Amino acid sequence: MQRRQKNLLGYNIDLFSVEEALDYSNSLIDSAKSSHIVTINPEIIEYANKHEDFAKILKEAELVIPDGIGIKIGLKINGENVQRITGIGFAHSLLENAQKNNIPVALVGAKPHVIEKAYENLKQEMPELNIVYKHDGYFRDCKQEVIDGIKNASPKLLLVALGAPMQEEFIYELKSILPSTLMIGIGGSFDVWAGEVQRAPEIWQKLGLEWLYRTIKQPERFKRIFPTLPLFVYNVIKEKFTKKEVL
Ligand code: UDP
Repeated sequence: MQRRQKNLLGYNIDLFSVEEALDYSNSLIDSAKSSHIVTINPEIIEYANKHEDFAKILKEAELVIPDGIGIKIGLKINGENVQRITGIGFAHSLLENAQKNNIPVALVGAKPHVIEKAYENLKQEMPELNIVYKHDGYFRDCKQEVIDGIKNASPKLLLVALGAPMQEEFIYELKSILPSTLMIGIGGSFDVWAGEVQRAPEIWQKLGLEWLYRTIKQPERFKRIFPTLPLFVYNVIKEKFTKKEVL
């Protein structure tokens, strides 16, 4: 399956539909090396622009899905009308797919009681899901133990919920350790699956305004998206017109 990508401010983004991205993920699971799915948004890009090592991680990812509303707007400005694929929604589909195809799964991240609750809820929702390893995300003092635990469990799919940039850095490190595992960083998804944090009502999600809902509920998030989001859109517009002049 061929990747079709669009470059925004130096970062390639895959233009797959959800179904195509899932098919592509299955081919990554079947491949003989480990791979990394990044759910990209303007905040991650802003961070990558200031940290070269992190930019390299994004550029080497095997699949980059357009999560943030800013990415959708940026692609639209460049003539690409893509479906937004949220990290949490995509990770859930990956788990359903794992249950269906008996793919061994590992879960790492969130606070100890959160990962336990998320695990229980997932097992209730998907009783046949083969979860071979789980650990909370606060393992600074026993990192090697967690890495060995994951390695020994041999998962083919690993969900990492440590928040950016930590989760992407951890996945990048694991890429050279695990022989064939598909990994994705999913931020606060375990908190949602544990019932600790509510997702926005469906109508907000459908309108692409989940970020606004989360900011209203947790005003401390405001500094994450402002001025990052408008600045990102401004830079994409600037890039488009600068490119035109060169042509
Ligand atoms: N987290 C963790 N270990 C850490 C720091 C954070 O496991 O050292 C978890 C935290 O408990 C939460 C997730 O990482 O479950 C980050 O959630 P956040 O909502 O900040 O991520 P976002 O979805 O915004 O990327």
